[in-house]
Amino acid sequence: MKVKLKEQVLKDLNEAADFNRKIFKDHQMLVINLMSSPGAGKTTLLEETVKVLRDEYRIAVIEGDLATDRDAERLRSLGVKTVQINTVGGCHLDARMIAKTLPEFDFKNIDILFIENIGNLVCPSGYDLGQDYKVVVLSVPEGNDKIPKYPVMFRRTDLTVINKIDLLPYLPFNIEEAKQDLASINPKAEFKQLSALTHEGMDSWIEWIKDAYQKCTKL
Ligand code: MG
Ligand code: ZN
Repeated sequence: MKVKLKEQVLKDLNEAADFNRKIFKDHQMLVINLMSSPGAGKTTLLEETVKVLRDEYRIAVIEGDLATDRDAERLRSLGVKTVQINTVGGCHLDARMIAKTLPEFDFKNIDILFIENIGNLVCPSGYDLGQDYKVVVLSVPEGNDKIPKYPVMFRRTDLTVINKIDLLPYLPFNIEEAKQDLASINPKAEFKQLSALTHEGMDSWIEWIKDAYQKCTKL
């Protein structure tokens, strides 16, 4: 009985993901599900990305958070339409939570939607939100061993962004090893390295987003 119930819940989540996907496709939006452990710099990366892209693209954000709306306020202060999801302790976002926020957006006037997931390197990767791309941010202080230690996350993502590379001179993070581990876990995954703080390497990430947007609008 327990198994059956779980299947039903998952089925509903798959339906919710398909529901979201259809809305996103119908409006030719690019939707990026941004994941990482707490403190890897998702919100800072989003802020800096918004500052670069906001003159060219209409951007909206869904902010997942355990308890506060601090990150949402940071994005709102940049003039970005931001809807907050408080999971009240829940450790990931799911497609139903996303579906519930959709009535708050005017999708005719949005080009790119970023979904900042809950800080957690484990289960967010298992939940399809209806996004076009899953991106995982791994920061230099966490260590490159997190790629082989959390292979499921890196196997299920389209792009790995190494953040805080301004700290590379001070910390034992091995970029080459990170690339090799990622390539063996997920040969199709792309790899970027940047510092959201200093903007070193940001251009390549911005170009990736622009290419991804073009692919979505061509469909
Ligand atoms: Mg954040
Ligand atoms: Zn979870």
